[in-house]
Amino acid sequence: MAVNLRPAQGPRLPLIAGNWKMNLDHLQAVAFVQKLHWTLKDAKHEDGSVEVAVFPPFTDLRTVQTLLDADKIPFALGAQDVSAQDSGAYTGEISGAFLAKLDARYVIIGHSERRQYHAETDEVVAGKVQAALRHGLVPVICVGETLEQREESGPTAVSVEQLEAALAGVPADADFVVAYEPVWAIGTGQVASPEQAQEVCGKLREVIAEKLGQDAASRTRVLYGGSVKSGNIASFMREPDVDGALVGGASLVVDEFAAIVRYQKHVGV
Ligand code: PEP
Repeated sequence: MAVNLRPAQGPRLPLIAGNWKMNLDHLQAVAFVQKLHWTLKDAKHEDGSVEVAVFPPFTDLRTVQTLLDADKIPFALGAQDVSAQDSGAYTGEISGAFLAKLDARYVIIGHSERRQYHAETDEVVAGKVQAALRHGLVPVICVGETLEQREESGPTAVSVEQLEAALAGVPADADFVVAYEPVWAIGTGQVASPEQAQEVCGKLREVIAEKLGQDAASRTRVLYGGSVKSGNIASFMREPDVDGALVGGASLVVDEFAAIVRYQKHVGV
């Protein structure tokens, strides 16, 4: 069994999640995970104060799972997508049942790159959230606006609408994570300000409270994502409604990702 940390009861356990996207084959994945583990271990930072999750491509999952398990590396494993269907004639799709068998804990759903390049609608996203929950996976529900949408309808409207749609039929006791990822800040180097991130993350927590109750809102982690680096992570983590980060580009550089995980060591946190 891979070591899968559960969110702490009470205060929310910060989550730093690395979305590798279509990078690192299974051999590169082994070298990367080992190096990240040693780096964090040397820094005495595998102390459970932050949950670390990696999201490799599907073809790496079995290999990474075996490594986490064999070397007792305390990273959670996640997938980058899941089918809304459980099995059958769906060529190229991956069932949540298969991911659960690999001890995957998380699955990213509704990433803006899937919404944009694979035409995933809010309805598709909601179907995938249901599939993840059916198989005991924790969906990481991504929401966020483009620059045009922000200018047209303000900073929160699109994310609120996307989250409300994704939460349709989700029970109040479901374990899920929300990631606010403004599309204009993903892979662009144009990072949101901590205040901008807080404004939307706070609003999303209100949506969770309205739809699923205060308990769910208090225990659910809301992440910020979009050009997070070691130099800006601490400023986001100071915000009351930001419980971690979904990291793309910087999650592929061991020292940089390790420094993001160690944000508590940065000045002023
Ligand atoms: C992402 O794709 O989820 C992401 C946040 O990417 P980046 O950190 O590279 O902006």
